[in-house]
Amino acid sequence: MGLLSELWRGLKVTGSTMLKTIGGSGLVTTEYPKEMRHKPQRFHGRHVLNRYPDGMEKCIGCQLCAGACPADCIYVRGKENDPESPVSPGERYGYVYEINMLRCIFCGLCVEACPTEAITMTHLFEMSTTNRQDAIYTRKELLMDESGKVPHMFPDDELADLDELNTADGWLRATAPSGVAAYEGVQMWQGTPGAASWDPEPSQEERDRASEGDDG
Ligand code: SF4
Ligand code: SF4
Repeated sequence: MGLLSELWRGLKVTGSTMLKTIGGSGLVTTEYPKEMRHKPQRFHGRHVLNRYPDGMEKCIGCQLCAGACPADCIYVRGKENDPESPVSPGERYGYVYEINMLRCIFCGLCVEACPTEAITMTHLFEMSTTNRQDAIYTRKELLMDESGKVPHMFPDDELADLDELNTADGWLRATAPSGVAAYEGVQMWQGTPGAASWDPEPSQEERDRASEGDDG
């Protein structure tokens, strides 16, 4: 008898909690994958290689991201820019760029290491594949197009969530990127992906011309 009453008491607790949850405020489940839960701003999803507003690629093929990666999953090969039609504002650009997503631990160290903010992360985490080769993202999947759109690995998938792909991860900056003294020590969020709002660095030639002008 005692056992039955304990069982009944347990069922009552389960039933009332279930009704309370279904009834409203405590509901935490969503109709995934039709409905995505909001991600925290610092969520680290798949990477993007960014461009400047003029279409130039930000990656200068320096390999600092590959050196910083604790999972050793980035492979970069830089190539000299053709002065007649440069791909990036630097001397070199990322001719080969690959990330093995099966090894990536989404730590974001590559993003921190990059001197030009070329590589950043989005909120997209759905990257399951049926073979290992598809998990190696190349320039084709990583580099945004000239209009600023990021390629999806599976664009024909009707559940491909382009919003997540276009959502920036956020970085807490201790100082203003512009170097304005008034903001020193003020912590602010800064979204990272997308075309930068500042102009690309001037080329070495332009710098030399400017310094010759200063000397003269
Ligand atoms: S997020 Fe971390 S593990 Fe992934 S590629 Fe970048 S540095 Fe490597
Ligand atoms: S993504 Fe950044 S750190 Fe990596 S090679 Fe390109 S410029 Fe260098």
